[in-house]
Amino acid sequence: MCEGNEGSKAAEKAVEGYEAVIGLEVHVELATRTKIFCGCSTAFGGRPNAHTCPVCTGMPGALPVLNRKVLEYAVAVGLAANCTITRFSRFDRKNYFYPDNPQSYQISQLYLPICRDGYIEIELERELPSGGESDSAEETFPAEKSWNSAQKRIRIHEIHMEEDAGKLTHDEQGGCTLVDYNRAGVPLIEIVTQPDMGSAREVVAFLEKLRLIIRYLGAGDCRLQEGSMRVDVNLSVRPRGAREMGTRTEMKNLGSFHGIEMAIESERNRQTAILESGGAVIQETRRWDEEKGISHPMRSKEEARDYRYFPEPDLVPVVIGEDYLERIRAAQPEMAWEKRQRFLEEYPIPEYDIRIITASRRMSDIFEAAVVLGSPPKKVSNWLMGETLRLLKEKGQDSEEIRFSPENLAKLIALVENRVISTTVAKEVFAVLFEEDMDPVEYVEKNELKTAGNQVILRRVAEEVIASNHKSAEDYRGGKDRALGYLVGQVMKALKGKADPVQVKEQLKELL
Ligand code: ADP
Ligand code: ZN
Ligand code: MG
Repeated sequence: MCEGNEGSKAAEKAVEGYEAVIGLEVHVELATRTKIFCGCSTAFGGRPNAHTCPVCTGMPGALPVLNRKVLEYAVAVGLAANCTITRFSRFDRKNYFYPDNPQSYQISQLYLPICRDGYIEIELERELPSGGESDSAEETFPAEKSWNSAQKRIRIHEIHMEEDAGKLTHDEQGGCTLVDYNRAGVPLIEIVTQPDMGSAREVVAFLEKLRLIIRYLGAGDCRLQEGSMRVDVNLSVRPRGAREMGTRTEMKNLGSFHGIEMAIESERNRQTAILESGGAVIQETRRWDEEKGISHPMRSKEEARDYRYFPEPDLVPVVIGEDYLERIRAAQPEMAWEKRQRFLEEYPIPEYDIRIITASRRMSDIFEAAVVLGSPPKKVSNWLMGETLRLLKEKGQDSEEIRFSPENLAKLIALVENRVISTTVAKEVFAVLFEEDMDPVEYVEKNELKTAGNQVILRRVAEEVIASNHKSAEDYRGGKDRALGYLVGQVMKALKGKADPVQVKEQLKELL
C-alpha cells in the first residue's frame, strides 16, 4: 500500500512530538609505532599475521608490558577534553570467547579508567528556520557559510585505554573463516560521552571537534572510512521536554559522517513509531546497513557482568605523579580554537580563511612560517585554501601530511609577487612543489619558466597576434572591450602561459 500524504504528515507530526537523546562511544586508534602491550608494528596492511608475537597472539605465559606512548596520548587527549586524570589506574580483563581475540579476553579498563568527567565544547551553526541539514562529509571542508554559531558543552563520562582485536574474513567458498592478528593489540582509546546530544548535527559537531583535538595532538588520524575512528551511537527517544530517558539502542558499523546522520534519523523514526503505536523499545545492539539505509538487530544488549570483568593480573597499576602530568601539560600544543583566536588578532585575513587553515595543524604552521619569511598573509592563505586543498582532495591525502615547506612556498609567492613568473606558471610550479618540495627559484631557472618579461619577445608575439586576428583588433578599436580578452588569451597561448596577463594586456593596448 502506498502511504498517502495524510499518513506521512501524521508521521512527521509524531516525530516532532519526540526528541532524541544520544550518547556516543568512540574508539580511536592511536598513532603509536608499536602495539599497546608488545613491540609488534602497528603498520596497516602487511602479510596476514606478519605483525604478531607471543603476546599479541595470546600464547600462554607471554607477558604484556604497557607502551608508554599509549599512556601519554591518552592523558594528553584527556587533558584537552578537560578530564580529571586518574592517578591510580588499572587494566581489566573483559572476557569473551570469539576467535578475533586469541587470548579469549580483551585487556581494557572498566573500574579505573585513565580519564574521567571531562567535556568538549562544540560549536553549532545556529539552525536555519527550515532546519538546515548538516552537510559535513569526511575530510572535506565546510563550504563558505556565515559563522553564526552557538556553543554547547558535551560531557565526557570517561576515556579508557584498550587493545584492538584481530580481523576475521569469512571465506564463503572455502567454507571457513580466516584470522589475521595484525590488528590485535593495536592501541585504542575509547571515549564515552554522557547522553548530551539531541541531533545528528550535534553528533557530527562533536565528532569533528574530537577529531580536531586528537589530530592536533598527533595522537591519531581519526579516519572513519578506514576504521581508525569507530563510532557507536546510543540513542533513545522521549516525549519532547520529558526528563526521564527512554530505553536506548546502540548502533554499530557507522562508516561515515553521512552514514551516522542517516542512521540517527532512521533509528529516531523507528523508535518514535514504536512508542506512538503503544509498543516498547527493546534495548539491543543494532547494525547499520549503509547500503540499504536501515539497521538490523544484532544482539540483545550485554551487561558488564556478562563479561566477567576482573583486574588484569599481568600488568602493574598505572600510577601518575604530578611531575608526569606537568610534563604532558607543558607539551600540549596550542589547540585549534586557541590558534584561531590568535590568528584573528594577528593576521589581516578573513575569518573564513582562518577557520580553514587552523583546522589543520600542519597548514597553520606553514601559514605562520611563510608569513614570517615575508609572504603577504592573504597570498599564503590563497595558496593553502586553493591549490593545496584541491590537490590534497584530488590525491586523497591528509592535510597533516603536506610535504612542501613554508620556505619554498614563500619563494614561489615571491616569484609571483616580483612578476618573475605568471600566475599560470606558478600553478604548474606549485603542483611540482606539492609533490617534491623543490626550490622553486632553481626550478624556474632550470625549466626556463620566467615570464617573457623579456619585453621584446612579448611585443613581437603581441604584434603577430594582432596581425593574424584582424577582426578582433578592429572590434576592440570599435569599442568592444571583450575582444581584448580574446587577444590576451591568444598571446598567452603563444607564450605557453609563461607571461603575466596584466603585462600582456598593457602591451596589447599600447599596440592597438
Ligand atoms: P553501559 O554501561 O550499559 O554500557 P553506559 O552507561 O556506559 O551504559 O552508557 C553507554 C553509552 O550510552 C553512553 O555514551 C551513554 O551516554 C549512552 N546512554 C546511556 N543511557 C542512554 C539513554 N537512555 N539514551 C541514550 N543514550 C544513553
Ligand atoms: Zn606482538
Ligand atoms: Mg559502556
